[in-house]
Amino acid sequence: MEYNEIGRTGIKVSQLCFGSLTMGPLQKNLPLREGADLIRRAAEQGVNFIDTADLYDTYPYISEVLNEYPDMIVSSKSYAYDQRTAEDTLNRSLKGIGRDYIDFFLLHEQEGSLTLKGHWEAIEYLGKCKEKGLVRGIGISTHYVAGVKAAALIPEIDIIHPIINYRGLGIVDGTLEDMEQAISLAWHNGKGIYAMKALGGGHLIPHLHKAFDYILNFPYVDSIAVGMQRIEEVETNVKIFNGKALSKEDLESLMDYKRKLFIQDWCTGCARCVRRCQQEALSIGEDQMAQVDPKKCILCGYCGTVCRELAIKVI
Ligand code: SF4
Ligand code: SF4
Repeated sequence: MEYNEIGRTGIKVSQLCFGSLTMGPLQKNLPLREGADLIRRAAEQGVNFIDTADLYDTYPYISEVLNEYPDMIVSSKSYAYDQRTAEDTLNRSLKGIGRDYIDFFLLHEQEGSLTLKGHWEAIEYLGKCKEKGLVRGIGISTHYVAGVKAAALIPEIDIIHPIINYRGLGIVDGTLEDMEQAISLAWHNGKGIYAMKALGGGHLIPHLHKAFDYILNFPYVDSIAVGMQRIEEVETNVKIFNGKALSKEDLESLMDYKRKLFIQDWCTGCARCVRRCQQEALSIGEDQMAQVDPKKCILCGYCGTVCRELAIKVI
């Protein structure tokens, strides 16, 4: 497993970052022990970096594993926009993982300079927490080229978690080339970059080798978050990141398993999810229920966070 210093934080992270969204209640909802075993298996094989978020509700799995691997690098995120919301969500992360610091704390879904301006109070508060040692790096996650470009120029931002994959799936405001240029600018400005959706939310699994070849050879990425929810995925991803060939069985196991977004039949047709989806993958059908266009859906899970009826599941 290769390790890279992420930005100018002085922290070395494994090239494979364990994406925990997929195991938690928003998706597979694995029992505690099963989820913790997945992270533990990755840690045993050298993965030292795990991605989570306040809304993923995966702190319990992580805290189990931190008992054995206390130095694991943990990155969380929240929708905080002011001091109070940043304080609440940061404290929840510290309590959740059972440590008195978290490595990185990011603000979700930053679209550009205006969004960052609107979240400035939270960034300033996190800066004070960094001085006190509660946070080791501050960052953003984004599906926007403009989000990466804006963060690239802000000294207070240490880490960027942008969407990038060889087809440019999920980039809201530009082409793959635009995103590559923005990430290159940010990386050269000393920002740590860890990529999201290298497999396009599962769409690129049939082109697994191409997708991983692209992201592993893109020079301005320090680590790559990959969502995992089965032991086979952990083993296969570790093999890929260690440069080992996959067996026929490895490939079959990955190809046979497709995640999908399901709308439950108690959907009320309120359309909150439709407005929330940046990929325009949701609409209200003639039956007055939400329907998903699987070709557009990147399984980011954002729609599920606004459904008051809990009618959206990714399984
Ligand atoms: S937010 Fe939930 S209830 Fe409303 S349309 Fe979407 S799935 Fe249905
Ligand atoms: S439908 Fe939901 S999971 Fe799919 S892209 Fe839209 S917000 Fe993300």
